[in-house]
Amino acid sequence: MSIAENITLFNKQLEGTSARLIAVSKTKPNEDLLQAYESGQRAFGENKVQELVAKAEALPKDIEWHMIGHLQRNKVKYIAPFVSLIHGVDSERLLKEIDKQAAKNERIINCLLQVHIAEEDTKFGFDEAELMAFLNSEVFDQLSHIKVIGLMGMATNTDNMEQVRKEFSSLKKLSERIKNEIEKSNLEMKELSMGMTSDYKIACEEGSTMIRVGSAIFGARNYPV
Ligand SMILES: *Cc1c(COP(=O)(O)O)cnc(C)c1O
Repeated sequence: MSIAENITLFNKQLEGTSARLIAVSKTKPNEDLLQAYESGQRAFGENKVQELVAKAEALPKDIEWHMIGHLQRNKVKYIAPFVSLIHGVDSERLLKEIDKQAAKNERIINCLLQVHIAEEDTKFGFDEAELMAFLNSEVFDQLSHIKVIGLMGMATNTDNMEQVRKEFSSLKKLSERIKNEIEKSNLEMKELSMGMTSDYKIACEEGSTMIRVGSAIFGARNYPV
């Protein structure tokens, strides 16, 4: 199927769910993104700063750019002027740097905090206790140029869909807990970024608001990233 057909199909599938599609276009050429754009897609996800910046310069200005991968602190400055949402904020130091660069650009940058929900210990992210402590801290209060609008998580890469479901459900529960227990002006728990090509259906059933889907839209990538 064509990219346009895939976009249409996804929009159909997402009707009646709380989720919207972030089209993950990493490694794909601008022509592929334009095909999706012409089918109405406006939210694109990239995981490399350099690639994201180059695509943002070349493509239509009403595209919403989502940084979805691991972000290094020294690269925040390149995307700070225009990025729409940073999904994978996995440390206090990174959030502080985003705050600093957002202030320089006189804007507020929306962020999602990444939570470690998978069994593998290679995945980045906060654990629950760490996250609660950080959100309750005065250090967090002082970050006036970021807004944490939700959580992001990646499930274990496994065929065991019950395990994947359990992990997504734990992320949803944690976001509810934060909503109930913590009130801060730079915190509004409304987004849950979870689900990719292999597990987006389960993620939707468990309350995802943003699925990050690449290969099911643009086809397999030539190299793994
Ligand atoms: C690449 C990537 C995706 C999309 O993966 P697919 O399996 O191609 O849908 C989602 N989230 C992150 C963080 C990624 O790096």
